[in-house]
Amino acid sequence: MIGGGQLARMTHQAAVALGQSLRVLSGTAGEPAALVSPDVVLGSHTDLDALRRAAVGAHALTFDHEHVPTEHLDVLVAEGVNVQPPPQALVYAQDKLAMRRKLRELGAPVPEFAEVTWAEDVQKFGAEHGWPVVIKAVRGGYDGRGVWITGDPEEAERIVARELDRGVALMVEQKVEMRRELSAMVARSPFGQGATWPVVETVQRDGQCAVVLAPAPELSSAVAEEAEELALRIASVLGVVGAMAVELFETVDGDLVVNELAMRPHNSGHWTMDGARTSQFEQHLRAVLDYPLGDTSALVPLTVMANVLGAETAPEMSMDERVHHLFARMPDAKVHLYHKGERPHRKIGHVNLVGGAGSIDDPEYVAALRERAERAAHWLSHAEWTDGWDEHAGDGNGE
Ligand code: ADP
Repeated sequence: MIGGGQLARMTHQAAVALGQSLRVLSGTAGEPAALVSPDVVLGSHTDLDALRRAAVGAHALTFDHEHVPTEHLDVLVAEGVNVQPPPQALVYAQDKLAMRRKLRELGAPVPEFAEVTWAEDVQKFGAEHGWPVVIKAVRGGYDGRGVWITGDPEEAERIVARELDRGVALMVEQKVEMRRELSAMVARSPFGQGATWPVVETVQRDGQCAVVLAPAPELSSAVAEEAEELALRIASVLGVVGAMAVELFETVDGDLVVNELAMRPHNSGHWTMDGARTSQFEQHLRAVLDYPLGDTSALVPLTVMANVLGAETAPEMSMDERVHHLFARMPDAKVHLYHKGERPHRKIGHVNLVGGAGSIDDPEYVAALRERAERAAHWLSHAEWTDGWDEHAGDGNGE
């Protein structure tokens, strides 16, 4: 796997159960996956020779991010490496403009968009489609970096001038009036088998995923089916192999619009580690290795995933002690830590809470589980309980 981040770390965890071992190409020995795999190649994902060293003898080569230059992947394929997803599919997760064009060609719902080669392009787009607009870096963005939303033509001009000057290729699109964000995750094997997990709601804060509700509450079965079919169709038409997230906006009118594609395990699928019959990490491996895919059904009516994000100032209490107190209070919290240094807003782990008996149509059931998941994640980030609970004064009975 190219990339030594948390996605590679968790994919390695799934590989172990399949009697496999994941070799990782990691920038440093201290990255999350390099710390757990016995087979680490140190090097950069932009260095063709490093990519070759990682690929030697491997059944397949896959990714924990989309930043490997397409031309390097084409070389590896020509040299006989089994690159999955193949570069001609992966490019639609790497290049937002190519993705928008392709999806429009397929008749998938996308916002109006245009390429930006000089400031005038954004002014023209705003005049035609209205303000505010969303300016995006065509390549290389993540967690909202490389996305600028503005209603001010002068600010737009400044952003475009600054970014073009830095050599960043840009596009512009309409700001979607949305009710919320959803994600439809799917996996596809080279054999052509496809499987979708239930559609989830992703809650974003500051352009970054904070919470996932799986499945998405208050989603009609017609819209859920539409999203799953769309994801399967995109995977099949593009020839995707592995896991893919189709990030969606649900508009205020209840329609779906595609935001972007990620061809790898994805934050919106972390809930599957504890809440689905097959996790996205195992499924990604099964797909890439061309095994039959696993059952994707949910185990319970609702699973909530909350990201553990680095606090502004890391708490004095050690993570070890925080985990200790969390387990004392919430024995059912499933903690996944990435062994990353705590820096503000950095994703350092996540917590899954797998719901008990109840119904996704019961707002109180949903709110209660969500509150507990967010409380657990906040505790791990900040060493503070959102409800003021005192862990030393606890009655010893948990919650
Ligand atoms: P990244 O690749 O960094 O994840 P995205 O394209 O997913 O960037 O955008 C990050 C966030 O910005 C989205 O999750 C959404 O909240 C917001 N956003 C992006 N595009 C639009 C749009 N066209 N309309 C409204 N909000 C948007």
